[in-house]
Formats: sequence, C-alpha cells, structure tokens
Amino acid sequence: MSVKLNNYLCGIIHKKGIKSQFCFSKGELFLNGNKDPLGEKKHSKAKGLIHRYTDRVVLTVTNKCFAYCRFCFRKNNWQSFEGFSLEESVNYLKKTKNVREVLISGGDPFFLSNKKLAEILTAIRSIKHISTIRIGSRVLSSLPIRIDNQTAEMLKLFKPIWIAAHINHPDEITDEFKKSARLLLDSGIPIVSQTVLLKNINDNETTLKKLFCSLVDIGIKPYYLFGCDQAVGNGIFRVSIDKALSLMEKLRGKISGLCMPTFSFDLPSGYGKVTLEPNRIIKRNGNIFTFKNFEGKEINYTDV
Ligand SMILES: *Cc1c(COP(=O)(O)O)cnc(C)c1O
Repeated sequence: MSVKLNNYLCGIIHKKGIKSQFCFSKGELFLNGNKDPLGEKKHSKAKGLIHRYTDRVVLTVTNKCFAYCRFCFRKNNWQSFEGFSLEESVNYLKKTKNVREVLISGGDPFFLSNKKLAEILTAIRSIKHISTIRIGSRVLSSLPIRIDNQTAEMLKLFKPIWIAAHINHPDEITDEFKKSARLLLDSGIPIVSQTVLLKNINDNETTLKKLFCSLVDIGIKPYYLFGCDQAVGNGIFRVSIDKALSLMEKLRGKISGLCMPTFSFDLPSGYGKVTLEPNRIIKRNGNIFTFKNFEGKEINYTDV
C-alpha cells in the first residue's frame, strides 16, 4: 500500500512518533470497524455540514489532507466524499438560529487556498448569529510552512477564530511547528490542541506529559485527549478506557492543570461525545464523601 508524504514529513519520518502515525502496517488489515463510526451521515443537514449538538456545526470543506493518519475516523471520505456546498451550508445556517459556532474541518481546511478559505469565512461572517469560528487542522504538524504571513493576515480579518490543532506526539513539535504556532498566536488567534490516544505511539505517561507540557510552553492549551474511534482498520491503535483513565490520573498529580486536556470519546452511531474523569469518590455516607486525592490518599470531605 502506498503512502504519500510531503517533503516536510519526509524530513522527520525517521522519528518513531511520526512514522507509526502515517505509515501503513499490516495490523490494519483486520478490517473490523465502522465506515462511519460517528454516524455523521445521519446528522448531515447540507452537503458537508454535520449538525449534532445544538449550538455548533461542523463543515467538512474538503476530504484532502497534507498526510493521511492511519487511524483517521473519516478515512471513508478519502475515497467517497459527498463534497461540500457552501451555498447549501449557508442557507441551512441562516435559518438555524441556535447555532453560534462553526467548526471548519475536513480533511484539512488549510489544504484549500487562502482565497477559497476567505470565501468560506466571509460567507460565515455574513450570518449574524454565528459568533465563533473554529478551524480543526493538522497543518502545524503536517506542513507548518503553509501558515505564512499571508495566511495569518487573512485569518485576522475574521476573528474571533480558534485553531484546534491535531497533534499526537512530541516528535511533531519541530522548530517549524513552533514558528507557525507563534505566528498565529501573535496574530491574536488562540490555539487549542486535540490528541488521539494511540497504542504504542503515545499511550504512556512520559510521552503525554512531554506533549502536553511542551504545548503549554508554546502557548497552546491542551483541549481534548480522544479515544481512538472504531473506524475500519483502527483496532491496532485503540487503548482501553481503563488505561486511558489511569494515564489521566497519573498525569493529574504531576502536571499543571493548564497542561491537562479532557478525556473524551465518541459513542457509536452518532450518539455524541462522552467525557470522563478518573473516579475520585471511594465511598459516600450521606453528605460525607471519601475521596482519593492526587497522591492516592483517602480523605474525608463533609459536604453542605
Ligand atoms: C466533536 C464535535 C463537535 C465539537 O464538540 P466540542 O465539545 O465543542 O469540541 C461538534 N460537532 C460534532 C459533530 C462533533 O463530533
């Protein structure tokens, strides 16, 4: 199976944390899994528009990326993409007044030209009740030079814009990554991160700690740590909920709250995200709770 990589990724593909995310491995041939694990088809309200939660929608504006993650939950779109209609999407948004946020996703939105992106952003900004725009992208990790001065200047015209940067391993944080992130931040565009928990790639305390702390050092807030969705061939990447929560618990005691993302995963068939915290309640007797603290000690707390 061929894997296409751009020059930037070829330059860092020797790093283990990069290679295992983009290069095919035989384990993927165990093809159990779902073609549409998040049930996005049934929540599609216009070509490329997914409306599942009341106040926000997702626009899948392209199916192209700068590199294709082996564990992609929209990998079915690589081959069969229904396309995106800006006109249909804007018509739907104009009449759907409870939507206040638009999340531009894909594929990678930055795969489109700045001209095309500006056209989409202009159309969204013409809708009065949309206040926030979020762009979900892997560009900082997969082709950071795509974010240049012109891109930053263009984005600035449409603020407030948030970038949700997909990043899974500290090996992705190169000088180029930092430079492009700095450019966005200096342009007044805040960045949050989203990470997929991946078996044998980042499912250990040391890697996650380094990743989340390095992001905060740059000025990026870790937002979500996602469980890997059950798309076809993703079995080799999945980590159990028990393991995920145990990692979250270990991290909580050791790193700043700023560095902690929320652990979240999607229920099958489009029933939405579930967020989980490690359980801290050991027992409860009326209004007296016994909690496990960050050091593992059992402490009583009298509630009101
Ligand atoms: C994840 C997701 C969102 C965004 O959810 P947040 O919790 O606001 O980050 C919106 N729509 C869909 C369909 C999603 O899957």
